[in-house]
Amino acid sequence: MASQTYRVRALVLKRTKLGESDVICTLLAEDGSQIRAVAKGARKPSSHFASRLEVFSSCDLLLVKGRSLDIVKEARLYESNASLRTSLERSEAASPIVELLERATLGALESPQLYPLSMKALSYLCSCDLEQTLTISSAHLIKAVSFLGFKPELHECIGCGSAAFLQEEGAANHAVAFSCIDGGVVCNACKPAFETITYPQSLITWLDALLYSDFETIASFTLDRATQISLLRFIQAWIKQHIGSNLKSLNFLFTYGL
Ligand SMILES: [Zn+2]
Repeated sequence: MASQTYRVRALVLKRTKLGESDVICTLLAEDGSQIRAVAKGARKPSSHFASRLEVFSSCDLLLVKGRSLDIVKEARLYESNASLRTSLERSEAASPIVELLERATLGALESPQLYPLSMKALSYLCSCDLEQTLTISSAHLIKAVSFLGFKPELHECIGCGSAAFLQEEGAANHAVAFSCIDGGVVCNACKPAFETITYPQSLITWLDALLYSDFETIASFTLDRATQISLLRFIQAWIKQHIGSNLKSLNFLFTYGL
């Protein structure tokens, strides 16, 4: 039987060592599906794969279908995103993005918004001010989980549909009940019926801004470090609840982050 080859543009999410010199690349294809492919000899310094198939890089690939793993035949660099590997701050902010994609995407399951969303976020992470990196990262994560089917309800009570309780004048310092399990904000009247955690309304407002604004707008936000970390902790809890993954790169950032 003739081997089946195909071409795809894909983002490298993870590299896993295989044998003496090979690498298994976990890739996000342009259609949002996940591919796992072996790059033979990729750990030899002389390999032309070595400088191309790096985490955060996007490549145009020629692959051969395999039974469990495909095989990389050719790789041409499309976008290197090199500064995500040379700057610690940028790397730290980009790592949860590829970790989420690696955990949450599946072989044949297409999700066409994920690749363009991720490439845009990584591109902003390459060039934004260092103070902005965690804001860009948070925006990507909450948008990506939403595209994967888990969008938090931030505008209306998930019990009764009321939006009034979020719109009081000067409500920024109010506390808002949020149910991670049931997926959204809860008004005071409905609160006894849900398992909730209380967040400052300002956090819910920022989350809403990250979810519904484009990256150009998001790059103009000025969030302090404490707010960025609170947002990422919220997102970590949301991902754990709905995707079932506890992102190691976020735990690392909370414990040892720059
Ligand atoms: Zn309600």
